[in-house]
Amino acid sequence: MQTKRVLVCGLVQESNSFNPTLATLEDFAEYGIYEGNEILDTDNNRGATIDGMLKVLADEKITVVPAVSMRSISGGPVADDVVEWFLNKTIAAIEQSAKLDGVLVSLHGATMSASSGDVCGDILEKIRQTAGEDVVISASFDLHANITEKIIKNADYVSGYQTYPHLDHYEVGLRAAQLLAAHLNDNPAKVARVEIPMIAPAHGYTTTKGGLAKLMARAENMKNSGKIIDYSIFQVQPWLDTQDMSSTIIITAKDEEIALTVAAELAKDEFDLRHELLGTPLIEISEVIKKALNNKSGKPVVLVDSADSPNAGACGDSAAVLEALLPYRSELKCAVAVTDSAAIDKAFELGVGATADFTLGATIAPKLSNPVVVKNAVVKSLHDGTFYMYGPQERGQLRNIGKTAVLQAGNILINVSYHGKCEGDIAFYRSFGIEPELCDLVCVKACTSFRAGYESISAEICNTNTPGAAGPVLTDMPYEKRPKPMFPFEEITEEHISEAKCYR
Ligand SMILES: [Zn+2]
Repeated sequence: MQTKRVLVCGLVQESNSFNPTLATLEDFAEYGIYEGNEILDTDNNRGATIDGMLKVLADEKITVVPAVSMRSISGGPVADDVVEWFLNKTIAAIEQSAKLDGVLVSLHGATMSASSGDVCGDILEKIRQTAGEDVVISASFDLHANITEKIIKNADYVSGYQTYPHLDHYEVGLRAAQLLAAHLNDNPAKVARVEIPMIAPAHGYTTTKGGLAKLMARAENMKNSGKIIDYSIFQVQPWLDTQDMSSTIIITAKDEEIALTVAAELAKDEFDLRHELLGTPLIEISEVIKKALNNKSGKPVVLVDSADSPNAGACGDSAAVLEALLPYRSELKCAVAVTDSAAIDKAFELGVGATADFTLGATIAPKLSNPVVVKNAVVKSLHDGTFYMYGPQERGQLRNIGKTAVLQAGNILINVSYHGKCEGDIAFYRSFGIEPELCDLVCVKACTSFRAGYESISAEICNTNTPGAAGPVLTDMPYEKRPKPMFPFEEITEEHISEAKCYR
């Protein structure tokens, strides 16, 4: 018997419409672009989604046709030549391959480009057109994906992360590949999709507690009982300004009627959570400072600057929190971060131990925040910017934030880097000599990912009202293209939930 052949490829990036900088091929190269057999080297994708896919293909003795896999940190929309480059490589690999039985695609799902609001839909459409209708396509996504009609019309199977903070990168790869493998073993399933016109800021919810955790558990029970095969509850990345944005439920079941019914039920449950998912009310920066001044627990107060979270595609260049902290430089031990390449160059020129005035911030998105002058800052240390993630998310993976300087203003330690990224990981500070556990106040530029590492070491976590491209007050953000009505901009009713539908 001839072995089955499955092509594997991936392009992963989360776009934020309000970040003015396009993500380039160099940004992807920095994170890793792997072609052909490089994809099979598990050192290149340790614990990542493609690793999970390869495990299933190996177990099923399916021949892997590796095409191209590329990933970048979240940021602005991607440059058009990134998508073109990926598609040229992938399409060539499909055309040059002997007959394929399936294609596995690792995607983010909230990827925009300079010219398209739905890069993942475009990719799947092109793969479908080239591979043909008989080839089984299964795609994996982030929980924050925007699962458009174009995506579901072109993919046979769709699976998304079931955790937030995201801890199941590998597992979603297993699921996507298992669905495909079952189909190739003459055990196909039906996939139902429902759209709910609602978005929520990423700091507002988690799958560790609250309504979304219960909803995930409910779906998991149905899976464990055998009623359904797979489920994904997508809370779309909210800082995507496109016409066809929505949160979606995807249910995979053997029986079409069951898939449709369960998808409609869970969509109603998600709709009911719309107010809760907006999160608890935000606290002002000055209030968080007061809490830190009064805190005697010996553990830090965490000020969540989610608006400037690079993980949510924001720029990491806001010094708004630093500005508010400066008057307390002699009283409070603080850790803050800002992306600022000019300040880094100046620090490297001056050298360790030098004292100077530094202007920090607002270098990437000058419309979103203001620069801040820090008088008499000492260049405490200089670094090449590489560090290992402490985790638990992506534990042990190597990151590079470019040249990094630690500046000290009184008791305030400032991590100044070329690229803010992975700022929710404790190693982002710790690796550069800043110990979060010894601070009174730690500013973390992340939405929810940081909780996995910070919750146990902090006195209190404060979601704070700060400026940035991932502004937590969605109704204050300058959306131009979003659909209407959409919650929380307009109140919606159950009638606005789409009908459950199977497309293939
Ligand atoms: Zn996500």
